[in-house]
Amino acid sequence: MNQRAIFLDRDGTIIKEKNYLKDFSEVELIDGVVEGLRLLREMRFKLVIITNQSGIKRGIITKEELKKVHKTVKELLIKEDITINGIYFSPDLPEERSTTRKPQTGLIEKAERELKLKIRGSYCIGDKKEDIEMGKKKGLRTILVLTGYGRVTKENVKPDYIAKNLLDAAFWIRKEEEG
Ligand SMILES: [Mg+2]
Repeated sequence: MNQRAIFLDRDGTIIKEKNYLKDFSEVELIDGVVEGLRLLREMRFKLVIITNQSGIKRGIITKEELKKVHKTVKELLIKEDITINGIYFSPDLPEERSTTRKPQTGLIEKAERELKLKIRGSYCIGDKKEDIEMGKKKGLRTILVLTGYGRVTKENVKPDYIAKNLLDAAFWIRKEEEG
C-alpha cells in the first residue's frame, strides 16, 4: 500500500539557512528537527525533501558539492535513526519556465512515482511562500515554520498552520491525525 508523505523544504526548515550553502561541513540541523522527524516517522509517513537549488545554474555550486551536502544531511539523520526516503532538487532559475522549481509541483510528482507515495493526506512543510503554494496546488495540508525565512513569509501566506519549528509542526500533524 502506498504510504503518505511529508514533503519537507531543506533550507530554513531542516538545516540552517546559509546563502547558497556549498560546503558540506557547514550543514547544521535546526533545533527540533531530529525530534520532529522522529515523531513523523513513528506516524509512518515517508520523508521527502524538495528543494530549490538555483545555485547550480547560477554556477555557485556544482552538482558534486550539492550531492555531498545531501549525503551529509542524510548521514546526520541516520545517526539519529531517521531515514530520509528521497531528496529532490530543482536547479532551475526563478526567471526560467520550470516544471520542477517550487511553487511548481513537478518534483512532488516525480517523488510520487518513484517512491510510490499516496498524495492524499500528505503534508507539506516549509519556510517560504513557494513551499506553501506548492503544497496547496497539490491539495496538501501546509505548514509554515517560523525558522529560516518563516517570520517574513508569515505576512503573506495562509498555511493551515504556523509552527515554531519542525517539532511543533509534527505535534500539530499528530493532533490532526488523531482528530
Ligand atoms: Mg527554505
